[in-house]
Amino acid sequence: MILQHTLRAPVYTRGVGLHGGRKVNLTLRPAPANTGIVFSRVDLPEKPSFQVEPHRVTDTRMCSALEANGAKVATVEHLLSALAGLAVDNLLIELDGPEIPIMDGSAAPFVYLIQGVGLEAQNAPRRYIRVLRPVRVEEGDKWAEFRPYEGYRLRFHIDFDHPALQQSGNALHMDFSRAEYVREISRARTFGFMRDVEYLRAHGLALGGTLDNAIVMDELSVLNAEGLRYADEFVKHKVLDALGDLYLSGHPLLAEFDAYKSGHGLNNQLLCALMDQPEAWEWASFTEKDTVPEAVQAGAA
Ligand SMILES: [Zn+2]
Repeated sequence: MILQHTLRAPVYTRGVGLHGGRKVNLTLRPAPANTGIVFSRVDLPEKPSFQVEPHRVTDTRMCSALEANGAKVATVEHLLSALAGLAVDNLLIELDGPEIPIMDGSAAPFVYLIQGVGLEAQNAPRRYIRVLRPVRVEEGDKWAEFRPYEGYRLRFHIDFDHPALQQSGNALHMDFSRAEYVREISRARTFGFMRDVEYLRAHGLALGGTLDNAIVMDELSVLNAEGLRYADEFVKHKVLDALGDLYLSGHPLLAEFDAYKSGHGLNNQLLCALMDQPEAWEWASFTEKDTVPEAVQAGAA
């Protein structure tokens, strides 16, 4: 049987929002089985809260932002990626500002925080979303697609006209496993270009961005003195983002995800397109150990 999991104990951290530049306190609290992933804005009157849901995404310009019940929470994707990567089903996420802290621009600080207290199995089977037929969305030359697969497999291709990105691997194929997520994906940082910084700041974005929480490139090369964490850190970060964006359903997927130049907006469109077609998916649980496919076991272990 594959059970739902939550945290063993609450954990706390504090950091700056990438876009607003404000300090935010973040507490992750254990939640009962079948609660899902819930955000709560504890700085607002009556502390409004809401469950993650793909149709609650209201802004995907530079991050994934959610809004419901009068509460907005931005830059959710790296925290959600860590929750997807570690297979956390139920969690109450409390924050006292409009944006999840950017930390070091990757999911690793959230992974360490959660691994520090560990997970607790709960007395309810994990509920998967099993893709039954292909679903595809396109936007210009960009596309993203789900195909049926009894496990979780990710394929991602990027194509940037930039020397640093062209030297780096631009494609990644992986059969998702928790160990590989922690080792190979979670440390990949967000990235951006110097030429965009002025434009972003004029629009009130990236105000908290520094070389400590993003890979920044000029016209030719990476400006961060320490260089890259992985030779193919860029495409790995796109996979990290996709894992977070696709966890906005609040449930792990049994699917193959294949994408070309996709981003937060297209990832969300794909998830909404899947959820909107009831004949394209079904709920699945594994209640007998011997019926769990190996690829599913690797993601849940
Ligand atoms: Zn990101």
